[in-house]
Amino acid sequence: MPAPPVFLLDMDGTFIGDATHQLCQSEVYKAVGIPYKHNITGLVRPHFESFVKGMASEFHAEFFVYTAADPTWAMGVIRAVEKAIGFKFNRPIFARNECTKTPAGYKKSIHRVLPKIHTALRKRHKVLRAELDRNIVLLDNNKTIVPEDDHRFMLCPTYDAFTPRDVLTKVEPAVIAQHHATIAAILFKYGYVTKSAYRSDAEFLCNYYAQLSKMIHDASKQQRSRPDDVFFLELEHHFRSNAANLRRAHSKSVL
Ligand SMILES: [Mg+2]
Repeated sequence: MPAPPVFLLDMDGTFIGDATHQLCQSEVYKAVGIPYKHNITGLVRPHFESFVKGMASEFHAEFFVYTAADPTWAMGVIRAVEKAIGFKFNRPIFARNECTKTPAGYKKSIHRVLPKIHTALRKRHKVLRAELDRNIVLLDNNKTIVPEDDHRFMLCPTYDAFTPRDVLTKVEPAVIAQHHATIAAILFKYGYVTKSAYRSDAEFLCNYYAQLSKMIHDASKQQRSRPDDVFFLELEHHFRSNAANLRRAHSKSVL
């Protein structure tokens, strides 16, 4: 059995869209003591589900997540994605704590996570490590890899679908009245209000809903739902046609 393709997938902008809404809502809920349940409706990139399932069943491909996001946040989003698409990524999930901090931001290093990949795949794939290592690729919408792993990097176009929605849906009016200063500071950070402090909860709510209305309008005008994104569809086609070409070349050489 040949070595399987091993994908390390970046999360934000690669297989999920813009998670500003989810990040903002989770921070508000945490600040006012409401349990937060991850809601990823509309967040997963089109054709991602069929890509991972198709590649796993046909080519025994292996998938890990390698993100520069906060580990706790990443884990929550990933569990919600796994539930939504019915597919489980390999563990461990590599997050910010597995990245190297540089002046240019967090960088990902395949060398750094390699021992954990070997351990995770050891039982399933009885191939030489060198053979397995040749098939590892990091798929990312930003050039975040350390220079020594550059040859294993695949850049993808950014998926930036964005669906702004009311982040205060489950926050009771009394809670908003009591915590409007804290909530306003969080919403300001994410661009959901235009200033960080208000004289009253009424003034805050007027600004928030006016801004939200503008955000929904802008997102709709800019067509930020992106249902026509075909990156994963094309990547799967590319793999299938390459595999077919290899099979044909192999059968000719055997003849
Ligand atoms: Mg990214």
